[in-house]
Amino acid sequence: MITRFAPSPTGPLHLGHAWAAMVAADHGEMRLRIEDIDPERSKPRWEAAIRADLEWLGLPPAGPVMRQSERTAAYAGALDRLWAEGLLYPCTCSRRDVWEAAAPQEGAPLHGPDGVVYPGTCRSAPRTGPRPEGAALRLDAAAVTEPLSWEDDRLGPGRMEPAAYAAMVGDVVVARRGWDTSYHLAVVVDDAAQEVGLVTRGEDLADATPIHVTLQRLLGLPTPGYLHHDLVRDGDGRRLAKRDDARSLASYREAGWSAEALKARLRQDRTVPAVEDRRPSAAAAPSRRA
Ligand code: GLU
Ligand code: ZN
Repeated sequence: MITRFAPSPTGPLHLGHAWAAMVAADHGEMRLRIEDIDPERSKPRWEAAIRADLEWLGLPPAGPVMRQSERTAAYAGALDRLWAEGLLYPCTCSRRDVWEAAAPQEGAPLHGPDGVVYPGTCRSAPRTGPRPEGAALRLDAAAVTEPLSWEDDRLGPGRMEPAAYAAMVGDVVVARRGWDTSYHLAVVVDDAAQEVGLVTRGEDLADATPIHVTLQRLLGLPTPGYLHHDLVRDGDGRRLAKRDDARSLASYREAGWSAEALKARLRQDRTVPAVEDRRPSAAAAPSRRA
């Protein structure tokens, strides 16, 4: 079984990434994909740090590394196919436009897995002629005509009816302006190209699965299995963030933790151990949370 670890090179790897890589390696042959489609935030030095951290963890990736910044042609091919089917339309709305058009009289607009559920302002834009490049493109939710289904090894089977997709997900962005791809399009095209049979990723991304299953169907790609793992949290139950440099893997390494002790501690439970606690017994200490 081929699994994957798909970090964005925008900061140091932290314990949450270590857990993601452990889950990927536990369930199959782990491929590495560097998700560097955001040219502003991605930096080559972080890719080098990711490789070094995986080496230290004893979780070297199998096969060649894939870099999303080198996959422009594959994303363009997928967009061409969807455009030719009349399933995409260009959207010129700003975030503010979307928010204002989607907001009800009182309260906040409905949020889906791709942000505010798009109110459809640009849906009647022309869909003929050459595909607009450099523009944001949305996938018309009307493209979903059959119930979606998938398997998740941890969360159980998933299913979504077309009407629920239209209401809860809406017309998602498949090409961002200036990027000519989006997270959703890139992961679907790349998971297929890396022959991933089990998509292992954090449960914060579980809601994006109906979008990905939709794109797989429209692009004629197989739907892999899914395993959305739990997230590593700090003592207050909050998810780790990339800005928490104190929780970076490098800081544990520098404090004298061995990779084996850190992995054993993460298997025991997914709250962060204190970085200063380097005693060997820390690995065997009872967890504070059940
Ligand atoms: N690139 C994402 C991250 O760094 C993960 C995306 C995925 O696993 O699908 O959190
Ligand atoms: Zn629009």
